[in-house]
Amino acid sequence: MDVLHAISEMRGWSRTAGTGNRSLALVPTMGCLHAGHLALVRMARQSADHVVVSNFVNPLQFGPSEDYARYPRDLDRDNRLCREAGVDAVFVPDAGDMYPAGASVVVEETRVSSGLCGRMRPGHFRGVATVVAKLFNIVQPDLAVFGRKDAQQVRVIQRLVQDLDFPVRILVHPIVREPDGLAMSSRNVYLSPSERSRALCIRRALEAARVLFESGERAAGVLEPCVGEVLAVGRPDVVEYATVVDWDTLEPAGQIMRPCLLAVAVRFGRTRLIDNILLDPLNPAGIEPV
Ligand code: AMP
Repeated sequence: MDVLHAISEMRGWSRTAGTGNRSLALVPTMGCLHAGHLALVRMARQSADHVVVSNFVNPLQFGPSEDYARYPRDLDRDNRLCREAGVDAVFVPDAGDMYPAGASVVVEETRVSSGLCGRMRPGHFRGVATVVAKLFNIVQPDLAVFGRKDAQQVRVIQRLVQDLDFPVRILVHPIVREPDGLAMSSRNVYLSPSERSRALCIRRALEAARVLFESGERAAGVLEPCVGEVLAVGRPDVVEYATVVDWDTLEPAGQIMRPCLLAVAVRFGRTRLIDNILLDPLNPAGIEPV
C-alpha cells in the first residue's frame, strides 16, 4: 500500500493505476477509522480495481467553535487498518497544500445544504463540497463511496456531481452501527460512559418511528413528536432537530408520499451526534432495522 502526501504524487499514482481501463474508487475520510469506514472500503473494493482512501481532517468544514483542533487523529493505526482492508493507496495531504495562502475559490451547493446540519453549522457544506471537488480533481476516481450516516452530505455530493458534471459515480453505504445500535462515528470517543448509554435514545427514537411508519403512519406531524418523546428519555443537552424531510429536496415533508429521511441531530455535552433512517412508502417494510 502506498501512502502519498503530495498532490502531484497522488495525481501520478492515479494516472498509472488507471492505465488499461482499470477503475479507481475513492473513499474520502477524516481518519480515526472505524468499522463504518471499513465497510465503505469493502464496497469500494467490490466496485473497482483500485481503492484510494483519503485521510484529511478538512479545516474548511469546521466552524470556529467546533472541534477541528481536538478531532481524534491516529495516522499509524489508520494506515494499518487500510493495509489490512486491502486499500491500494492512502492520500494524506497537508492542509497547507490543500488550501495555500491566497486560495479564493470555494464550491457552494445552495439548496439541499441549507436546512438540517447546514442551518446549525454555517459554512460546513461549503467546506465539504470544496474539499470533495478538490479530491475528485486530484484523485480522478471513477466512483466514490459515501456513508448514509451523513445523509445530507450525500445529497450535497450528489448535487455537486450532477450540477458540475463530475464523471464520478456516487455509491452510498447504509449506516454501520455498534452492536447496541449507536451509529459508529469518530466522535463517539468523546462521550462519557453516562452520555454513551444515554445516546441509545437516538436509536430507540428512530426505531419507534420506524415501527409507526411500518404500521401505516405517514404524517410527519405524528412521527416527529414521537421521536422527540423517546429522545427526551436520554436527556440530551440539545436536540438540534428531529425532522422528516423529502429525500430529494431535503425540505420538510408533511405527509410521507415519496422517499423521505427522518434525520436527528442531538448534543450530549460538547459532542454532536447525527443519525437517520429512510422512510420509503413504496417499501415500508424494507427499512433497515436501527
Ligand atoms: P468521516 O471520516 O466522519 O468524514 O466519514 C467518512 C465517510 O465515512 C463518510 O462518507 C461518512 O458518511 C462515512 N461514515 C462514517 N461513519 C459511518 C457509519 N457509521 N456508517 C456508514 N458510513 C459512515
